[in-house]
Amino acid sequence: MHSVKKRLDGKVAIITGASRGIGREIALVFGREGAKTILTARSADALAAVAQEIKAAGGVEPICFSLDVKDAVKIEELVDKSLDKTERIDILVNNAGVTRDGLFVRMSDEDWDEVLDTNLKGTFLFMRAVSKVMMRQRAGKIINMASVIGLIGNAGQANYAASKAGIIALTKSVAKELGSRNVLVNAIAPGFIETEMTQALGEDIKKTILKSIPAGVLGKPSDVAQAALFLASDESNFITGQVITVDGGMVM
Ligand code: NAP
Repeated sequence: MHSVKKRLDGKVAIITGASRGIGREIALVFGREGAKTILTARSADALAAVAQEIKAAGGVEPICFSLDVKDAVKIEELVDKSLDKTERIDILVNNAGVTRDGLFVRMSDEDWDEVLDTNLKGTFLFMRAVSKVMMRQRAGKIINMASVIGLIGNAGQANYAASKAGIIALTKSVAKELGSRNVLVNAIAPGFIETEMTQALGEDIKKTILKSIPAGVLGKPSDVAQAALFLASDESNFITGQVITVDGGMVM
């Protein structure tokens, strides 16, 4: 019996926010498709559990590295330590993100800073550290997790919307800078996906949201993970600077 070639065989992929939700699902899918995954988030125990799942499913043993995406020094350390073991980094998924919702006029400096520093600056810090490696390799794929909220805005989420719109502009700018080095940079803009982040929403809000989705259902983490797999795989080798919306038709 000959083995079927997997879509990420031999590739090394860093995934941030891999401890739960969308990031965990991306890690599982990439692991299943043959990638060597480097998993990061703050909670070490949750990362170890995801790594165990990947191994149990027959995947390559992941490297786990617990860090806060706001910590530039730790990010450089992660890149150095990973390179010692893997020698290259083919894929970076910037997925870690938080919300601190509240009406704009009453928004505290802390809530603004926490969301912008985690979502936007964290993405910048990881991209800067990893793109140096990818430029040397003359190859790499960076996938940034934006949101439909970064395209259309949302009352009560000014900080989150600004961070996600920032990620889209950052994605396009870096795609322009790094295209000639064969480093491709794209974003995914999920709509409403069933994770802990959206479980916090009340039933009334969920009903209103469902009305705005032509598909009539919330998305699943696997819907987003499949888009990430496409952008990470060789099937998307001439695609850069794009935003793929995964939202059941909410934003057209
Ligand atoms: P989630 O379930 O809350 O998971 C967030 C992940 O980010 C966790 O792994 C968390 O791990 C990590 N994280 C948060 N802050 C961090 C920090 N400072 N440093 C390192 N890691 C950190 O969220 P999700 O729903 O899966 O969302 C994943 C991404 O998709 C986010 O960027 C989110 O904005 C985006 N998104 C989600 C939806 C949705 O409907 N769910 C829609 C559009 C976009 P630790 O807590 O262990 O650090």
